[in-house]
Amino acid sequence: PMAIKLPRQVLVNPATGFKPYAGASRFDQLPLSGKTLKGLKEAKYESMTEIQRAALPHALAGRDVLGAAKTGSGKTLAFLIPLVEKLYRLRWRSGHGLAGIVISPTRELAEQIFLELGKVAKHHRFLTRGLLIGGSHDVGLESNRVGELCILVATPGRLLHHLHQTATLDCTYLQVLVLDEADRILDSGFARELTDILAALPNQRQTLLFSATQTRSVSDLARLSLRDPEYLAVHSES
Ligand code: ADP
Ligand code: MG
Repeated sequence: PMAIKLPRQVLVNPATGFKPYAGASRFDQLPLSGKTLKGLKEAKYESMTEIQRAALPHALAGRDVLGAAKTGSGKTLAFLIPLVEKLYRLRWRSGHGLAGIVISPTRELAEQIFLELGKVAKHHRFLTRGLLIGGSHDVGLESNRVGELCILVATPGRLLHHLHQTATLDCTYLQVLVLDEADRILDSGFARELTDILAALPNQRQTLLFSATQTRSVSDLARLSLRDPEYLAVHSES
């Protein structure tokens, strides 16, 4: 039998059959789980920002996304919601291995992302998560727990430390990799760490890249093993 390829515009949630439409402007118009919608509502997130409207239908459909929008435009939810929804649909839980990694260039940003993740995943009690940042935390204590977690939010150095040193950390089945402030990660002194991190991760995964600017060299993008990515840029109105 002949394979039927759906046009890109037809976005179907394989779990529910629901077709979100590009015109959705509120989170509750997207095919999100009740648990995620409840968390968003409790955090008073109701209308989507422009980058969220642009990116969520694609990311929720499992596509790789390269999203660019200025600081303060709401990029965090544009990657956290698809991450949480994918793991929820897969019924991921502790002991299944690491399923999602969010890499952030600074501790402060990583902490903010982790805080937002707490809101989005508040009612997803099986989606265990941890924050891996340098500094105050005890690496040894951390190592006892990271192997049990479903989602890690991390700075590059600390993540790499655990990928190399923590035997219980199993990335074999990683589902989603997020690079937040991707430009800063690729440009900065993290380029080497990133190369080593990517070498430790499987290529078969969904990759979501977000940054404030869109200019990236093709070679940088190539080494991220993106699969037919959706390029989305939102420009400020002013
Ligand atoms: P960026 O990463 O693009 O700089 P953030 O994700 O940090 O932006 O979001 C900036 C601010 O906007 C945060 O305080 C966040 O809570 C808020 N925000 C994000 N999305 C929404 C939304 N849909 N509705 C209301 N506030 C939002
Ligand atoms: Mg941000």
